[in-house]
Amino acid sequence: MNYSDSFRDKELVQGLARRIAELTKDLSKPLVFMEVCGTHTMAIYQFGLRSLLPPQVKLISGPGCPVCVTPNSYLDRAIALCRLPDVIITSFGDMLRVPGSSSSLMEERAKGADIRVVYSPLDAVQLAAKNPSKRVVFLGVGFETTAPTIAGSILAAKAQGLTNYFVLASHKTMPQPMAILSADPDLQVDGYICPAHVSAIIGADAYRFLCEEYKVPCVVTGFEPTDVLQGVELLVRQALAGESKVEIQYSRVVRWEGNAKAQAMLADVFTPFDAPWRGIGVLPGSGLRIADKYAEFDAELAIPVQVEELKEHKGCLCGEILKGKVSPFDCPLFGGKCTPESPVGACMVSSEGTCAAAFKYGR
Ligand code: SF4
Repeated sequence: MNYSDSFRDKELVQGLARRIAELTKDLSKPLVFMEVCGTHTMAIYQFGLRSLLPPQVKLISGPGCPVCVTPNSYLDRAIALCRLPDVIITSFGDMLRVPGSSSSLMEERAKGADIRVVYSPLDAVQLAAKNPSKRVVFLGVGFETTAPTIAGSILAAKAQGLTNYFVLASHKTMPQPMAILSADPDLQVDGYICPAHVSAIIGADAYRFLCEEYKVPCVVTGFEPTDVLQGVELLVRQALAGESKVEIQYSRVVRWEGNAKAQAMLADVFTPFDAPWRGIGVLPGSGLRIADKYAEFDAELAIPVQVEELKEHKGCLCGEILKGKVSPFDCPLFGGKCTPESPVGACMVSSEGTCAAAFKYGR
């Protein structure tokens, strides 16, 4: 067995599941734990981890998919930009199929808009350098994990003296929505499976205020089956002991202080602002906009466009799913009118979306 296989070892997985069942066997009310990372959502569905847990432990998904929490208004602006004749839109692939109010970037590309999928924002910077007569806009969507690479692209464009590279920024920061959900009287969250990638940047200390103010246990957890189940076991043990503290299960990657270099880059290039989240609303200080000193790279400021009136998709429950209040199976459109081939909402598009995960692995 190699090193990585050991994280999927059947006996270890079954042993963890048995321990969790033993610990919780006398509970009359289930403990509810929320994962706030789309990669955890995918892993939990992919490895069938819910089926290994006793009825006394319930896992729910939260607002951890960056594409899913990006509101329609952002897509509508990107679509308006792509209709300008001298603009090239660049993006990671998931964003293309997300429906905006009345179109998607995929539809616009079919109509002739110049929209390109890139694997790194630095590819978009190179494209701008090779196409001086075009304005190249990168769709900056993501959490603290991707934001440093996008900050790096702005610094690279500045260093190269480019005046035709822009970012349409919609970065979100994770701890704020967790505080909102913790304070929601209609939602039971007995602990958080904290995101792994985000925590590698911001550090596990970033969740301490949740434990202190909302008395909710937090465990930073990896993505393999043994990681997730060990994270659940740590949450169970805290909940049973009446504790609320931050623990790091994913100690092979995450540190308490995070990545100081990436944090410095974020602080230089971006400024916190009150960001809109799909289904959750505007959360104070929960987004990163481009700082004034780099304003010439801000697509929203530098390229004014008329954006169409916002329309939400009728019947889509993405907003409630992102708050952990319903599951994809509660949506009447799931698997019928809404499938990965023909998505109605963002949660069915993204490779980290809860509906996409449920469709692929949960039926
Ligand atoms: Fe929205 Fe489709 Fe998910 Fe229903 S199944 S909540 S329509 S994305």
